[in-house]
Amino acid sequence: MIGQIVIVGAGQGGFQAAASLRQEGYDGRIILIGEEPEAPYQRPPLSKAYMKTGDAGQLALRPAAFYDTNAIELRKGTRVDAIDRRAQRIQIADEDLAYDHLILATGTRNMRPPISGLEHTRDLRTLADAAALRDALARAERIGVIGGGFIGLEFAAVARAAGHHVTVAEAGARLMGRAVSSQMSDRFAQKHRDMGTDIRLASPVAAVTPDGMTLADGTQISADFVLLAAGVVPNVELALDAGLDVDNGIVVGSTLLTSDPSISALGDCACFPDPATGRLVRLESVQAATDHARLIAKRLVTGDQSAYRAVPWFWSDQSDWKLQIAGLAEATDAAETLPDGTVLRLKGDQVTAVETVNNARAHMRTRKAMGQGSILTKEDFVSAQV
Ligand SMILES: Cc1cc2nc3c(=O)[nH]c(=O)nc-3n(C[C@H](O)[C@H](O)[C@H](O)COP(=O)(O)OP(=O)(O)OC[C@H]3O[C@@H](n4cnc5c(N)ncnc54)[C@H](O)[C@@H]3O)c2cc1C
Repeated sequence: MIGQIVIVGAGQGGFQAAASLRQEGYDGRIILIGEEPEAPYQRPPLSKAYMKTGDAGQLALRPAAFYDTNAIELRKGTRVDAIDRRAQRIQIADEDLAYDHLILATGTRNMRPPISGLEHTRDLRTLADAAALRDALARAERIGVIGGGFIGLEFAAVARAAGHHVTVAEAGARLMGRAVSSQMSDRFAQKHRDMGTDIRLASPVAAVTPDGMTLADGTQISADFVLLAAGVVPNVELALDAGLDVDNGIVVGSTLLTSDPSISALGDCACFPDPATGRLVRLESVQAATDHARLIAKRLVTGDQSAYRAVPWFWSDQSDWKLQIAGLAEATDAAETLPDGTVLRLKGDQVTAVETVNNARAHMRTRKAMGQGSILTKEDFVSAQV
């Protein structure tokens, strides 16, 4: 068995890799290194429950004792600066550490588009960001949000429900344009507008000042603060500097190994072959980070070389609507809305993804059927087979 495994990044996927290694029976040394000061915690509640309540007590992925009990050496507040692949060592501030296998789980950071005055914006990525944002929210009346994706909209929904004036400026023609059908985008735009949020589509932001934001067409939106939620970029610099293959993320094969057989990569920072189409994809979801980690742990402990095949799924809570997506559609896939509001994404007659709102049953049934490897067709849904 491998002697010493080092995991870089103590977020959702890094944590899961460490936990799954122990569950699989790995008894070697595990060192889990994370830049943030906290033990691994869940990010999804930062823009949902935590933003409402400020209760950080529920965020930890495991109680502090878990790491000692499972002999996982957790190094918090520690940044890995470099990888020496030939020597199989990583560099941290004043020491270097050997690895027999290295797992890169470095996640993403906020994308910073070319907008002047970005230093006046706030981020929502870490617990520290979320705590600062809550403080600002308590003092603000008017809020601007750059980006009508999941995080911007979840935050907008919480802020609006708390009585703030909220303007969301989205550069694209529709909300959540990378992730859902145009039908679902339209429904959510209406939902947010019904709540009283000012949704501006096809409205790139040109500048941010301490008084608000200016759209590309010159419109001024006054705001006490502006949240930057225009997407993320993967943290690939460590891998790039070490000469690993990098595309829109650290490139891994079907078993989630990088171009170096001693290094795996997972989660938000990794791009991997989509089992359904073979195209390289990078997903930003708890599901991908968790399932990647489990597969890597199993491969390292048991030698199982099975290809990654997990069904992608995702959720987003916006006001009292829970959007759930099972499967993975390409932008060009068709979309058809069923009478109950479910949206099927289709390649010909084959269902590639299913979008539901407040319909956990349909979501779970779809995941189950997709997980069994069934090819689902529109007919399966129309005749309520799924
Ligand atoms: C506000 C918010 C809401 C979200 N909501 C949802 C949701 O509803 N559903 C969903 O599925 N997903 C959601 N996500 C996305 C989800 O949290 C991520 O997909 C998931 O955390 C990815 O896990 P990861 O391990 O790849 O990366 P992360 O959890 O981001 O962890 C990466 C860690 O690596 C650390 N790191 C990076 N570089 C280094 C280095 N050189 N040295 C040491 N440490 C380093 C980072 O500091 C970070 O802690 C949300 C994300 C955010 C920010």
